[in-house]
Amino acid sequence: MPEKTADILIIGGGIAGLSMAAALDMKGMPFVLCASPSTEPASAVAAGLINPVTGRRYTLQTRYEQLMASAKEVYAHLAGVSGKSILEAINITRLHRSAEAREAFDALTDIPNAYLNTNAPLHAGQVHTEYGGMQVLNGFRVDVSALSGNLAMLHFQHGTVQHFVLDFPISFSQERYHTALGSFHTIIDCRGYQTAFDQSWQFIPFRQNKGEVLRVKITDPPSAGVYIKDCILVPLQDGTWWAGAHNSWTDHSPFPTTAGKESLENALNKLLSSSYKILDHQAAFRPAIRDRAPVVGRHPHLQRYYLLNGLGTKGYSLAPYHALMLADHILNEKPIDPKVDVARFY
Ligand SMILES: Cc1cc2nc3c(=O)[nH]c(=O)nc-3n(C[C@H](O)[C@H](O)[C@H](O)COP(=O)(O)OP(=O)(O)OC[C@H]3O[C@@H](n4cnc5c(N)ncnc54)[C@H](O)[C@@H]3O)c2cc1C
Repeated sequence: MPEKTADILIIGGGIAGLSMAAALDMKGMPFVLCASPSTEPASAVAAGLINPVTGRRYTLQTRYEQLMASAKEVYAHLAGVSGKSILEAINITRLHRSAEAREAFDALTDIPNAYLNTNAPLHAGQVHTEYGGMQVLNGFRVDVSALSGNLAMLHFQHGTVQHFVLDFPISFSQERYHTALGSFHTIIDCRGYQTAFDQSWQFIPFRQNKGEVLRVKITDPPSAGVYIKDCILVPLQDGTWWAGAHNSWTDHSPFPTTAGKESLENALNKLLSSSYKILDHQAAFRPAIRDRAPVVGRHPHLQRYYLLNGLGTKGYSLAPYHALMLADHILNEKPIDPKVDVARFY
């Protein structure tokens, strides 16, 4: 177990690194969080939406109640550390995109009824509701800007934040890792998709999933929270709206594309009755794994070198639960769930 000095280095200031920092802070374990000040990480481009029921089969996210119990703990801690409210419940309206989609929904026999209200009002007039839809219950939104735009304002009780891009590989001698930020007993790698390029983790089947989003100002905006149809429309704290995402598994360029913009505009036109103005267009890579589960735990050979990654499309619900799991593993030797353990790949 590490000493009670800042002997743990967390690398990456996305939602994985921030959740890891919160988990260690809550347990009174000192750490340094190394957060790159530049680039557009997935965590900053995301809407921060936590939607319990997703996909064409309306599947309830695995262990949703457990994930949310951890998320509430971790986000409450980050609210204390940042002085800002981080997690809020949000209304989600999911609209059928076609008559076929509505028929497919009606034919489903195993939907999570406790999370869906098919009798809810759909606020016709501001959005196109011609095929009907439903309200998704128990959804949340994380204030992404309060976290990723605000790292310098996070005052952890047991940790410090360093804005720095760390060089790799990290040298190891005399039982310690030596970096430009000092020497450390333990490393926790939370570098998102960039970990995929590190030789040390080549045995993990990483996948890059690019997502493009628009930020828009809507002339006559809808009033009831998040809308999901051909795209997801999320109200942001500053009165603008997040519209996303256009996704690709094959485009490895980091830049927003014309095709991405056009497909999002097309989706927005099918959703909104009102006009809108595009303020911004961004792209980022989600860190995904071939089996679509997170990857958490210890490196097979490097001593006290850990990973929290593979959060895919659901980083804001998955990160807190898995950060607490990894903290308990590092500090108290509690086992990692085999379904997410790094060990499933070696
Ligand atoms: C368009 C889009 C929309 C999304 N919407 C949602 C959503 O609404 N809800 C949801 O739950 N999830 C959403 N996601 C998924 C979510 O964003 C990711 O699962 C999550 O952000 C991954 O977090 P991470 O911390 O692992 O990686 P990242 O957010 O990529 O963070 C990694 C960090 O490590 C830093 N780093 C890398 N190398 C170094 C180094 N050498 N030194 C220092 N720092 C380094 C990077 O700069 C970065 O800040 C979305 C993703 C995208 C792309």
